[in-house]
Amino acid sequence: MRDTLNQVPQLSGYNLFLTDRTLVEAVNREGASWALEQVSELGQILGTEEAQTWAVEANENVPALHTHDRNGNRRDEVLFHPSWHSLMKTSIGHRLHSLPWIEKKKGSHVARAALMMITAQNEAGHTCPVSMTFSGLAPLRVEPDLAREWEPRVLSSAYDPRFMPVHEKRGALLGMGMTEKQGGSDVRANTTRAERIGNSREYLITGHKWFCSAPMCDAFLILAQTEKGLSCFLLPRWTPSGDKNKFFIQRLKDKMGNRSNASSEMEFQGAWAHLVGQEGRGVSTIIEMVNYTRLDCGVASAGLMRQALVQALHHCSHRQAFGKLLIDHLLMRNVLADLALESEAATLLVMRLASAFDARESDEHEKAFCRIATAFSKYWLCKRTPVHVGEALECLGGNGYVEDSGMPRLYREAPLYGIWEGSGNVICLDILRALTREPATVDAVLHELRSALGKDSRLDTYLTQTESELTGCLKQGLKNGGGEAEIQARRLAEQLAIALQGSLMLRYSHPDVADAFVASRTTGDHGQTFGTLPANVKFTSILDPVAAPFRPAAG
Ligand SMILES: Cc1cc2nc3c(=O)[nH]c(=O)nc-3n(C[C@H](O)[C@H](O)[C@H](O)COP(=O)(O)OP(=O)(O)OC[C@H]3O[C@@H](n4cnc5c(N)ncnc54)[C@H](O)[C@@H]3O)c2cc1C
Repeated sequence: MRDTLNQVPQLSGYNLFLTDRTLVEAVNREGASWALEQVSELGQILGTEEAQTWAVEANENVPALHTHDRNGNRRDEVLFHPSWHSLMKTSIGHRLHSLPWIEKKKGSHVARAALMMITAQNEAGHTCPVSMTFSGLAPLRVEPDLAREWEPRVLSSAYDPRFMPVHEKRGALLGMGMTEKQGGSDVRANTTRAERIGNSREYLITGHKWFCSAPMCDAFLILAQTEKGLSCFLLPRWTPSGDKNKFFIQRLKDKMGNRSNASSEMEFQGAWAHLVGQEGRGVSTIIEMVNYTRLDCGVASAGLMRQALVQALHHCSHRQAFGKLLIDHLLMRNVLADLALESEAATLLVMRLASAFDARESDEHEKAFCRIATAFSKYWLCKRTPVHVGEALECLGGNGYVEDSGMPRLYREAPLYGIWEGSGNVICLDILRALTREPATVDAVLHELRSALGKDSRLDTYLTQTESELTGCLKQGLKNGGGEAEIQARRLAEQLAIALQGSLMLRYSHPDVADAFVASRTTGDHGQTFGTLPANVKFTSILDPVAAPFRPAAG
C-alpha cells in the first residue's frame, strides 16, 4: 500500500466558539461577557471527536416509532440512538432551552444565541425540541396555573427522556402542532376540533397534525377550533390523572435531512388538553412561541454557514493542487473571502437581533425593531444558507460530496429553516403586515438604518433606495389592497436585511471586510455566485484572520 498523500485531516479538538472572532466580539459587545466561560466550555465540548461522533451516529441511526407494545396496546413511543440522548443532555445541561428565562441579565438572549449558533454547527437536528421547549414557555406563562405546574420541569437542566407521566420526571420538553394535512401556512384552515368539558378550561381534542416534530415531547402547544375560532391548547402526553393521552403517532416522516430528529403525523381522538390564552385567539397566543423559533431559524442558519465556512477554510488550508495550497490560489481566495463575508454578516445580524430580544421588555423601539427584524432576518438568512453551504461543499471537491466530510449533512439541513416557522413567501407577507398594521415597526427599522448614514457613500445610496422601496411598497400596499406591494415583498425583505448587514459591518467589522461587503452587496459590483468579489478588495485582510485557526500548525 502506498502512503496516503495530500488528504486533509479531520478537523477536531478545536473550540467552536473561541475560533470565531466575530462571535466572541459580538457576545462581548452585546452585553453577554458574563457568559463567555459557559459558551467557551460548550464550544470546546462540541469540537471534540466524541461530540462529532454523537452527531454522525444520531443521524445514521434514525429514530424508530413503536406504535404498539408486545400485547398490542398502543404505546406511541419513539426510540432514539444513545448519541441523540448525549446531544440532548449536553444542550439541556448548558441551558440552551432556558438561559434567558433563568438568568434575567442583560445579554441573556445574546448568550443563548451564541450557544445555539455553535450547537447547530455540530448537530442541528436535536436543536428542534430544544428550541421549541425554550419558546414554548412564552405562551405557557399566559396561563398561571399551567406555568406553575410545568415551568420547574421545563426550566430544569436535567434532561429526562423517560417515558412516564411528567409529574414523576425531573425535566420536560415542549413541542408544537400547527400544521395539518390541508394546510400549514394557512392555519385558519385547521379542522381539528376542541370540545369543552363542562365550564372548565379543559377540552377534548379530535383531529390530526400532519407535521409534529419531536413527538416524544412531554406536551405540545397545538391549535384547534372551538365555537369561538382557532384556539391554543397545551396537550400533554399523559393526562393529569396519569393515563396515556389519546393521541396516536401514525408514522414518522422520511425526511431529506434533519434525520436525527423525529417528525411525525399524529391523530387525536378525544385527547385531553388545557386552553392557553383567550378562546378564539389561538394564533396571537402561539405567535410568541413562533417569534422565538424564528429567531432560532436565523441563528441556526448563521451556524450552518459558519460551519460550512470553517470546513472549507480547513480543507483549503491543508490541500494542495497545482503545486500550492488551495487557499493560496487567487480564484479560490475570492470564493473563500466571499463565503467569509456572508458568514460574518449573518453572525452580526443574528447577534444584533438577539440583543433586541434582550432589550424589548423595557424598550418600545427595540420591541418594534425586534418584530420586523426577526421576519426579514429569518427570510434572508434562510435563503442564503443553502447557496452558501453548497458553495463551501464544492471547496472540498469530491470529498465534500461524501458523507465522511460532514458536508452532505449540513447541505441537507440547510433548506429546512426556510420552510418551517413560515416559508419564505409567508414571512414576506408577514413583513408587509407588520409594516402596514404596526407603524412603529416602520419607524424602528428606518431609525436603525438611518443611524448608519454618513459612514460610506455607497451604503448611503443603498439605504436611500431601501427607504424609498419601503415607503413605495407601503403606499402601493395601502392603495391597492396589497397587490403591488405583495409582488415586491421579497425584494423589500432582501434589501432591508442587506442594508442592516451593511450598517453592522461598517460599525463592527474590520474596515477592509466592511468595504468588501458594501462594495459587493450594495453596488451591484458582484456576480450571481460566490467568488465574484471585485478584484480590488483586500483578500488578505478578509481571509488571514478567519483562516488562521485552521492553518496547519507550524513545523
Ligand atoms: C422537518 C420539518 C419539521 C416540521 N415540524 C413542524 C412542527 O413541529 N410543527 C408544525 O406545526 N409544523 C411543522 N412543520 C411544518 C412546517 O411548518 C410547514 O411545512 C410550513 O409551515 C409550510 O406549510 P405547508 O407545508 O402546509 O405548505 P403550504 O402552506 O401549502 O405552502 C406551500 C408553499 O406556498 C407558499 N405560500 C403559502 N401561502 C402563500 C401565499 N399567501 N402567497 C404566496 N405563497 C404562499 C409557502 O411559502 C410555501 O412555499 C415541519 C416541517 C418540516 C419540513
